[in-house]
Amino acid sequence: MPRKCCICNHHRRQEIEHALLRGESNRVVAQRFTVARGAVARHLKHVSAALSQARQLKEIEVGKSILTELRDLKIQAEQLKARADRAGDYRTALAALRERTRLVELEARLTGALNERPETKILNFTLDAETARRMTETFLARHLGVNPT
Ligand SMILES: [Zn+2]
Repeated sequence: MPRKCCICNHHRRQEIEHALLRGESNRVVAQRFTVARGAVARHLKHVSAALSQARQLKEIEVGKSILTELRDLKIQAEQLKARADRAGDYRTALAALRERTRLVELEARLTGALNERPETKILNFTLDAETARRMTETFLARHLGVNPT
């Protein structure tokens, strides 16, 4: 069980964090707030973990808003198509349909439902001259019926 962080629960936590963010050393901060230097170092790790978590959440938020926008556009394309259908304007209906298809594709790509990247495996190995010669001979013998002398 990890030890509880005395700075996470410190009543002056914000001040401590601000001092650290200003670049004050662990030693100075520890002295001023009468906490152990080790505790300051440990707490710094908590802060960076929290920061990276916050950054990830922000990225998720951005992704969500893009998807929401895409869905709105899809609805608009559907509405335009319906209107064109009613008016017997098949050219516009077809254009709306194409646009909707493009949006669906884009959404699928963004959500990872569509994976277009072909899988490529790269194999790295080194071959000594003798092995390379034997492999070549075997290959030639099998595929071309050539028997080197
Ligand atoms: Zn902490």
